[in-house]
Amino acid sequence: MARTVLQPQWLIDGAGTEAQEGLSVILDGDRIEAVATREEANAVEGARVIELPGMTLLPGLINNHVHLVLPGDNTPFVPWIDLQSDATLALVAAHNIDTSLRAGVTTVRDCGGRKRVTLDLRTAQREGLTAGARVVACGRTITITGGHTRHFGGEADGADALRRMTRQVVSEGADFVKVMAAGGGTPGSISQRPSFSAEELTVIVETAHALGKTVTAHCIATASIANALAAGVDHIEHASFMGTDLEPDFDQRVAEDLAAAGAPVTPTLQVARDLVDLLPEGPDRDLWRGRQESQHRIIGTLRELGVPLLAGSDAGWRATAFDTLWKELDELAACGLSPVEAIHAATGAAVAAHGAGDHYGTVRPGLLADLVAVDGNPGADLSKLAEVRAVFQGGELVHATL
Ligand SMILES: [Zn+2]
Repeated sequence: MARTVLQPQWLIDGAGTEAQEGLSVILDGDRIEAVATREEANAVEGARVIELPGMTLLPGLINNHVHLVLPGDNTPFVPWIDLQSDATLALVAAHNIDTSLRAGVTTVRDCGGRKRVTLDLRTAQREGLTAGARVVACGRTITITGGHTRHFGGEADGADALRRMTRQVVSEGADFVKVMAAGGGTPGSISQRPSFSAEELTVIVETAHALGKTVTAHCIATASIANALAAGVDHIEHASFMGTDLEPDFDQRVAEDLAAAGAPVTPTLQVARDLVDLLPEGPDRDLWRGRQESQHRIIGTLRELGVPLLAGSDAGWRATAFDTLWKELDELAACGLSPVEAIHAATGAAVAAHGAGDHYGTVRPGLLADLVAVDGNPGADLSKLAEVRAVFQGGELVHATL
């Protein structure tokens, strides 16, 4: 592959700095060679030049929490999941990484699918058998008997069985381990109570760490966050701070422990927003509106305490689609993040949290050229992220409406 010069109006580097004007990005094959002035870029001989007038170039977005095997069209998880074969789920997942990529999402972190399906899809994408976003995946989720997403095939209880299940998940090829530390939207599971004990979570964390894998914990109940921190998990999903009465139960002490642990939180705020947008006026919509507003307050407080926040939409779950990640960034902005901080949460910060910061996620020499060009300046207006004009993956222009 020859060299390519990209000439956007604005550049956002994904490291948290504001949009800059007058810079070009030079690609060599699948890599970013340099960020250069216009003058330096014009001096590059024999390069293909792609003008991106009125557009911003930024790192390809990372959706840090998705469920590729799910449709994201508000189909009830149960019984739908039990009616699908693994082959059907793989085709759904292939469709979803393609949709993601077209929307400027060049990497997704899958937080749970059935058995080996998402791991096999990850391999197929890497081998070029199917086009789409890169996949980082946990495979099946580890959950208590009767727990959240038990249909994915990861039920286990007690130290011996949890050690065995964690080893199985890692041997199947999981990039990280996901545990359901509380219930969730699966009928029969209990969101407002912890599922595993802190001792059980500790067995999972020790087993995973010994095999070189990090652990993330799904935490709705406040007590599940405390358990996950006591066990030393590496990441927290949701951090909803729900009390046993299903009402918000923000605990300052737990929040301070969370900040002290330094574990990043992916709050998946978009689930509530999408349901508020979809549901007709009524009690169900009011419930989700209330949750959306309390999450803004809770996550805003975590931000003030210094908890690293990452952008993940929970695409696939409930009514959240794979091509609307900008809405999650907009929700993060409602918690107090500036637009470029929200973009950082979906690029440089997100990739650092799953250990691939040396490969992609920012606009830096030597990294894979996973880049997206959008109309206007999302550093001033995040909704511009929906206006995708070009997507580069590993230096290749994979989608364009230039
Ligand atoms: Zn999820």
